Formats: sequence, structure tokens, C-alpha cells
Amino acid sequence: MNICKTISEFRRYRRSAAGGKVIFVPTMGALHEGHGSLVRMARRLAGSDGIVAVSIFVNPTQFGPQEDFHKYPRPFEQDLAHLAAWEADAVFFPSPEEMYAPGSAMSIDPGPLGSVLDGAIRPGHFRGVCTVVAKLLGIVEPASMILGQKDFQQQLILKHMVRDLNMPVEVVTAPTLREPDGLAMSSRNRYLSPDQRAQAGSIYQALSWARHEYSGGVRDAGALEAGLSERIGQAGLEVQYALACHPETLEVYRQTVATPCVFLIAATLGTTRLIDNLVVA
Ligand code: AMP
Repeated sequence: MNICKTISEFRRYRRSAAGGKVIFVPTMGALHEGHGSLVRMARRLAGSDGIVAVSIFVNPTQFGPQEDFHKYPRPFEQDLAHLAAWEADAVFFPSPEEMYAPGSAMSIDPGPLGSVLDGAIRPGHFRGVCTVVAKLLGIVEPASMILGQKDFQQQLILKHMVRDLNMPVEVVTAPTLREPDGLAMSSRNRYLSPDQRAQAGSIYQALSWARHEYSGGVRDAGALEAGLSERIGQAGLEVQYALACHPETLEVYRQTVATPCVFLIAATLGTTRLIDNLVVA
């Protein structure tokens, strides 16, 4: 596996690597099986002559001043072992200084989708995400980029970015990988104490309840949203939002839930913030 710490190293590697297409999985590291499912999908898409490129970069510009940038886990050696097992070809692992040269001042406006939901709670977050992913795409130049559905708003905004800015990359969204109790795998799950870890299962239980109600014909947005919040709140989490939205516009269904629909949840357990979602058709 090739480990490239600088942009020029990665570009040199990419030029020297033979033929096939490049499939890219951007991450912040602290890799788990959720990332593994994306890398394995990349391997299938790339085939034996293509290149699976993974970036590991904890991007400072997408964290707020009170957020967990400094304490975000960085187990680089473990990450490399995972990536080798998942058959990645190259890891791009730049420093913040490499990605943001002194004086770099440009950023990408995520548009209106960037100021709702997580964008309202984390001002500037999606500007940071769009900016770093645009930079990574300019370095890696992949045919396809694979993102997780777990970060629903993120994958939607990035699809808009590549479309609106005519970037020559296909964006593929991969399903959310879950723990046995349904908790979406996340690098932040390792912040949870054993008690909090048990409580966190309520997020998926609430989403599954909403899906069940919806399948049974319930379309009352207020009842579904109140039911979601109650279930998560009763488990001891602080709900930031629990909403039924249109999956393409993120418009919140206020009265009647229409089809298609995504149930979106953000909640905190102590200082740990968790998000999850479920799309119903
Ligand atoms: P992160 O390292 O948290 O920035 O995530 C890197 C990529 O992995 C993003 O596209 C995430 O949506 C995706 N991802 C994170 N957790 C999961 C999961 N449980 N299942 C599938 N994809 C995931």
C-alpha cells in the first residue's frame, strides 16, 4: 500500500500507477467496519487494474471552536492495518499545513442545503466539508467517490457540489453499517461510556419505530416527530432534531409526511454528538 503525505507525492504515485480508474473514499480516519464497507465497495468498482485511494484527514475547517477537533481519535497505525486488509492501494495522509498552505483563503459556499439541520447547529461545517472535498478531488482526480448514507446531509450537499461545479466525478452513496443493536457505526462511538453506549441504541430503535408507523400508513408529521423525540429522550439523550424531511430538498414535512421521506436524527449523549437517518420510500 502506498502512503502519500504530500500532494506532490500523491500526484506522482497517481501518474506512475497503471491504467484503470481511481475510486476514492475520503475519511477522517479512526476507521471502523462502516469505512470498511466503503473501501470494499471501492475495490469492487475499481476492479483489479483500478486504484482504491483513501484519504485520512481530520479537517480543521469543518470543526467549530467548541467541537472535538483536538480530541478526535487518530490511530494511524491501526488505520493502515485496516486499509491493507480491505485492499486499498493508496492512502493520502496530509498534514493540515499541507492541505491549507499559508494564506489560502478560498472556500466553497454549500448553498442553502448547508444552512439547515446540521448546518444550522454547526455553522460553517458544510463550508469546511465542501472546501476540503473539492481540494481532495482536485488532488486525487477519481472517476468515482464513495460516501456513506450515515452522513445524509453531507452526501446530498456533496452531490450538489459536483453537479453545480461540473466536477468530473460520480458520487456513490453506500448504505449505513450498523452494530448488532442498530447503532450506526461511527468513530465517535468510542467516546461513549458503557452506559451511554447502551442508551445510544435508542436512536435506531426510534427510527425503526417511525419506519414501522410509516409502513402502517401513519402520515401525521407531528405524531411521528414527537414519537421519535420521546423515544430518544426517554433513553436519556438530548435531542437536537428528529424530523421527517424530503430526501432531496431536506424540506421538513410540517403537517403531512409525503413520499419519499427521510427520518433524520441528531442527539447528544454528554459531550458526544450522534446522527442517524432512515429513508422510507
Ligand atoms: P468520517 O471518517 O466519519 O468522515 O466518514 C468517512 C466516510 O465514511 C463518510 O462518507 C461517512 O458517511 C462514511 N461512514 C461513516 N460511518 C459509516 C457507517 N456506519 N456506514 C457507512 N458509511 C459510514
